[in-house]
Amino acid sequence: MNLPIDYEFDHVGIAVKSLGEGEKVYLAMGFKAGHTEEVPSEKVRVRMFELGNNARIELLEATSPESPVARFLEKRGPGIHHICLRVKDIRKSLLGLKAANIRVINEEPIQGAGGCEVAFIHPSAAGGVLVELSQKRSSK
Ligand code: ZN
Repeated sequence: MNLPIDYEFDHVGIAVKSLGEGEKVYLAMGFKAGHTEEVPSEKVRVRMFELGNNARIELLEATSPESPVARFLEKRGPGIHHICLRVKDIRKSLLGLKAANIRVINEEPIQGAGGCEVAFIHPSAAGGVLVELSQKRSSK
């Protein structure tokens, strides 16, 4: 399949024990308190810090001990949890990955933060890095 290059860097997700603790460094750098939202599908609360070039930093706090972020913190402590690439057509991206036999966590998009549809590529298929694909609801 011949996929056009339609991936853009969107954000890096950082797992923190609490948003209040985690955001201190960004507030000290002059960031404004970011948009905060609960994402039930991932059992997390996220706070976004806009970088002004269409890229963001996302802090993630677990809302339940069963949250993937809670398990991540338990295993590795706070740190970079995932990177996120913005795509124009997430279904097409997932089809391309499937065709290439790449292991994904979500074969169908799920509801992410900010009304986006998201899907995750398994870290074992991406150099140990969890990769989130995200499509804005408005983009075609
Ligand atoms: Zn994210």
